Amino acid sequence: MTLQDEYKKISGLYRETVNEADSLKEVEKERVKYIGRSGAVNEIFKKLGTLSPQERPAWGKKLNILKSDITKCIEEKKSQFNKKDKAEDIFDPTLPGNFSTLPSVHPVTRILREIKHIFSSLGFGIAYGPEIETAYHNFTALNIPKDHAARDMHDTFYLDKEKNLLRTHTSPVQVRVMENNDPPYNIIAPGKCYRRDTIDASHSPVFHQVEGLMVGEDISFSDLKGVLAEFAELFFEGTSVKTRFRPSYFPFTEPSAEMDISCRICGGKGCSSCSQKGWLEVLGAGMVDPEVFKHCDVDSNRWQGFAFGMGVERLAMLKYGINDMRFFYLNDMRFLEQF
Ligand SMILES: [Zn+2]
Repeated sequence: MTLQDEYKKISGLYRETVNEADSLKEVEKERVKYIGRSGAVNEIFKKLGTLSPQERPAWGKKLNILKSDITKCIEEKKSQFNKKDKAEDIFDPTLPGNFSTLPSVHPVTRILREIKHIFSSLGFGIAYGPEIETAYHNFTALNIPKDHAARDMHDTFYLDKEKNLLRTHTSPVQVRVMENNDPPYNIIAPGKCYRRDTIDASHSPVFHQVEGLMVGEDISFSDLKGVLAEFAELFFEGTSVKTRFRPSYFPFTEPSAEMDISCRICGGKGCSSCSQKGWLEVLGAGMVDPEVFKHCDVDSNRWQGFAFGMGVERLAMLKYGINDMRFFYLNDMRFLEQF
């Protein structure tokens, strides 16, 4: 085929075949076919040498124009596909964004970890006990006999005929530790407790306590005060917290006391958060009752010590200024994300 014939063929053909391409890949094939390194146009260029020197410049120009026309045609076709692709992947600024949130630790878990950390730093070990307890460990061994009025204070979930139950406090762990180990004891026992309470701002049928037990040959009430005041200081770090101990009653301790901290909002002057008292109740404690030692086969003439129990949710509420316990269990991300 002569240069002229090929020129005629290609210039009459390229538009049609390029426009028939139905994907970017097909368009690229057309580009290679016509204007690639070994494409049709370059093949025609090679034939310029067959022409007379007078004819060559004019045909060279024609071929260059053909090449740029084909290039333009291919670019146009490509841009059609690009537009189509973009239309499918259009960015809509009115759609809500995809926010990824980092997981956070639940406030109750966070407070539990803090309490464990503080008592570990004070030399306490950690003990665990079963959530399904015997009535003996939950009540009897803690000096709460069957007809004792204190059993009424605990609205208990019994599992079978008053023998097994869901523990109403973490205190039975004290008993288990003393039954299975020789004194001295220096432990805390964190865990879940269960009571048949109606859910309200300060009650939940499931809640968390941390029990503590310190027993030695020379442990007195001033050790109790020292350890718990130190705990309050470390737990409510950054604020000067005052503590006070009020006489109280628990069947398993004698004497018993409740520890209050000065209200962190009013500093002790009195406000609505502390019911104008200036003090907030934090935990119960006392010297281990000799009756409890007797149940655990520990010689109370040689060993003395103290026990305490604190509500984890209550401590979390005091620390974070939360006024309703139900927030901990609603799984509302707006609440949980703040911790
Ligand atoms: Zn106050």
